[in-house]
Amino acid sequence: MPAHVILALCMLGFAPLICDAQRLSPLSEPPQWDRLDRFQESITHDEFVALLDSVYAPDHASWIQIAANEVTILENATNRFVLQFAENAEKRRRVDRYWTSVADLRSDDQKPLSGLKIALDPGHLGGQWAKLEERWFQIDSSMPVAEGDLTLRVAELLAPRLRELGAEVVFVRSKPGPVTSLRPAQLKFQAIASLLDRGVVNMLPSYSGQADPNRELSVEWEAEKLFYRIGEIHARARIVNEQLKPDLTLCLHFNAEPWGNPSLPILVKANHIHLLVNGAYNLAELAYDDERFAMLVKLLNQVYAEEAGCAESIGQSIAAVTGLPPYIYSGSNARRIGNSGYVWARNLLANRLYECPVIYIEPYVMNNDEVFARIQAGEYEGLRNFGGKMRPNIYEEYVTGVVNGLVEYCRATRRK
Ligand SMILES: [Zn+2]
Repeated sequence: MPAHVILALCMLGFAPLICDAQRLSPLSEPPQWDRLDRFQESITHDEFVALLDSVYAPDHASWIQIAANEVTILENATNRFVLQFAENAEKRRRVDRYWTSVADLRSDDQKPLSGLKIALDPGHLGGQWAKLEERWFQIDSSMPVAEGDLTLRVAELLAPRLRELGAEVVFVRSKPGPVTSLRPAQLKFQAIASLLDRGVVNMLPSYSGQADPNRELSVEWEAEKLFYRIGEIHARARIVNEQLKPDLTLCLHFNAEPWGNPSLPILVKANHIHLLVNGAYNLAELAYDDERFAMLVKLLNQVYAEEAGCAESIGQSIAAVTGLPPYIYSGSNARRIGNSGYVWARNLLANRLYECPVIYIEPYVMNNDEVFARIQAGEYEGLRNFGGKMRPNIYEEYVTGVVNGLVEYCRATRRK
């Protein structure tokens, strides 16, 4: 590679294989480690170790070294950050954060969600972008299924229901399309760096469609992925953390099983639900300076109790209205938490970067044959028969499950 390209890549911080002083995930800025200073003496040794071992990173090697009074974290290849523990629970210093715990709200029998600011984050882009982001399929002349449009519709129906119950509701995305102003054509240079980081040396400039087996080696596909999967989430994180500052973010999704060719998709029998909270960082992820930093922000903000409690409640209520079984991860990238079986910890870009409690909701397999039929049926009134069971329309069922779970969680958790 020419020297000027290497230099430029190093200056942008995108080439960890070339310059090893910092290691950053694509499109990430170098972390400002002094931002962790506000957490000095805010957590005890035992609380820190419990969260690290049971939720975030039981296997953290030498990135994080714990002593009796302090923890030392590697910032990069040369620097270290030291966080002092609180001597005991009484001596914990209070941390200012932009969100309020439900446990700190007074109980309100009339409006169980009063005082709570909820951000709705409809997953994906939808609209004209649904094909590019590979969240689109169509059977013959049926209505195309685009996850980003389904999630937006759920958010639109969910918002007034939450407001009736006292919540302030804001949208991270309120129309089809991206919130980022970045576009794939602007990300070619970063795509090359990202491919190099993945060890791709023989890269191709472009690809010939979703069926192209070599598309993952192309700069064009990588730039598109950086746009809708990385740049878009960074933009949403800025909206959440700097503008909306909610107490809770609900990331609304539908799940899917591999469907193959989007114009000739495979319908499956599998159907399930799961919810995700942030956690389960592996060593490869911790090796990125920005991921290590973001994990510590999540841990030290102590969002876990809210994320886990709320996810458990919403998981149970959606399961009760849908009858769906829990999805079970087979790989090592997720860790089951709680008792219901529906909630998993997983390190995703959005639940890592949004600093408030974040819950990913993943009900329904869109290419399950019954779910597909229900999506085609749209928003009807009353009940209809699907597979021998009378069911409300799928959006209504999704919304009812979320509302019931949130209300239950808030009623049980608010201060009496
Ligand atoms: Zn999704």
